[in-house]
Amino acid sequence: MKFHVLTLFPEMLEHGLHQSILGRAVEKGQLSFHMVNIRDYTQDKHGKVDDYPYGGGAGMLMQAQPVYDAYQSVIRENTDAAGSQMVKKLRTVYVTPQGRTFTQDMARELAREEELVFLCGHYEGIDERVLEEIVTDYVSIGDYVLTGGELPAMVMIDAIARLVPGVLHNEESAETESFHRHLLEYPQYSRPEVWHGRQVPEVLLSGNHRQIAAWRLEQSLARTGERRPDLYLQYQNEQKLIETLAKQKRKYIHMMELLARGRAHIVCQNDRNVLLQVEGSRHYALYAESPEAAELLLESPGGVEMLQQKQLSLTVCQERIRELLQRRYGFETERVCFQACYTRKEPLRVPCRKIRPLTEADLSYVASHCRGYEEAYLRRRLRAGALLGIFTGTEGLPTGFIGLHEDGDMGMLYVEREYQRQGLAVSLESWLINDQLKRGEIPYCQIAEENDAVVGLQKKLGLYLCQEPMWKLFLG
Ligand code: SAM
Repeated sequence: MKFHVLTLFPEMLEHGLHQSILGRAVEKGQLSFHMVNIRDYTQDKHGKVDDYPYGGGAGMLMQAQPVYDAYQSVIRENTDAAGSQMVKKLRTVYVTPQGRTFTQDMARELAREEELVFLCGHYEGIDERVLEEIVTDYVSIGDYVLTGGELPAMVMIDAIARLVPGVLHNEESAETESFHRHLLEYPQYSRPEVWHGRQVPEVLLSGNHRQIAAWRLEQSLARTGERRPDLYLQYQNEQKLIETLAKQKRKYIHMMELLARGRAHIVCQNDRNVLLQVEGSRHYALYAESPEAAELLLESPGGVEMLQQKQLSLTVCQERIRELLQRRYGFETERVCFQACYTRKEPLRVPCRKIRPLTEADLSYVASHCRGYEEAYLRRRLRAGALLGIFTGTEGLPTGFIGLHEDGDMGMLYVEREYQRQGLAVSLESWLINDQLKRGEIPYCQIAEENDAVVGLQKKLGLYLCQEPMWKLFLG
């Protein structure tokens, strides 16, 4: 992932961002930082970049021209060889006390971008006109005022960069940290077993992983309740929703699992009716007990904000609600699917174990057999280690693969024609199911209406198929 930072003090960030974990990620080519000194772009012969604000008032203001030209230098880098056509529109974050407060959810969302621009203000801020032209997001680190945007940009970049797949050694560590599912992390201990007369809790020495997990959850709950009652209430609310959805598990497994895995947040809620947004995406899922309840959600501020976006997808599981969304809000049906979930606890037998995660080097192979998915999406999935390949051929190349989608369902299954009917699909899916069971998840998939072969596979592996359809709707 590439970060461009527009600043008057590049050395401040250069030094801070090249240490420790981020420094190593830069060396490995997982991250890159491009500092742009705004002062290099001033047209003032004395190198001035600020001036008095019109209308008077304290302090100086950064002028529009140097900021705009510094930004344009980044955009020119993203211009194709012909020099005229802009290749990408870059998300540009102005760090400002006037923005939305930065959160872990926001960090997760921004970590999905391939490139980001950060703009750091100084003095009294920046001329409004250039902000209107280039900024896409206004973000603050908290309700206090600092002298400049360099520290806030470093805070945000650090939080985002460590979520880029591969930057942290152990992918899990970001999963179990504070704020995941609204909980604070449990207390941790290292050697020695006794320090200042204080003993490490017995259970952590037991080697019993189930008991350790239970103890940690209990500690997380107690700590969150005590230190952050606001988060604890959110956690409790989500637990209640999960219980409601569990009453129709086969139908709403996707929403249950999104909440249970901490992969979605509540956009709006009305009693038990709820609209979820998959973390950092434009994918939404709706649970409503009637079309009237669905309408109430969509007319609430969160629902209205969703409808104002473009290119969004929304999953619904009730025919009457689908009709309402099409008639009233202009949604179109993209796909009709049937969900299947594996509700047992026992792992499956994996007949062929020549399976390992694919890497970014396999992108063109995966993309050529995974039509209908954007390359950027497949690249993100590969970086996250979410695609598994099976290697039964002679040339060391994969003969098939399967993956876990960003919204948590299994999919992208492919087996080379000459290797079909040899149990490769069974091995791949069983492996993926077992992997999810280890994390305490309920594996599930969404099967297109006409795909009999995949339905057959699910039945063979013991997944329960929901007889009622779900609709993936699209709003352009
Ligand atoms: N006059 C501005 C106001 O009242 O909103 C504050 C300007 S501040 C002194 C200078 C710069 O520091 C800002 O342009 C912004 O880039 C950065 N900054 C200060 N506090 C910040 C915060 N809490 N979050 C993000 N950036 C901040």
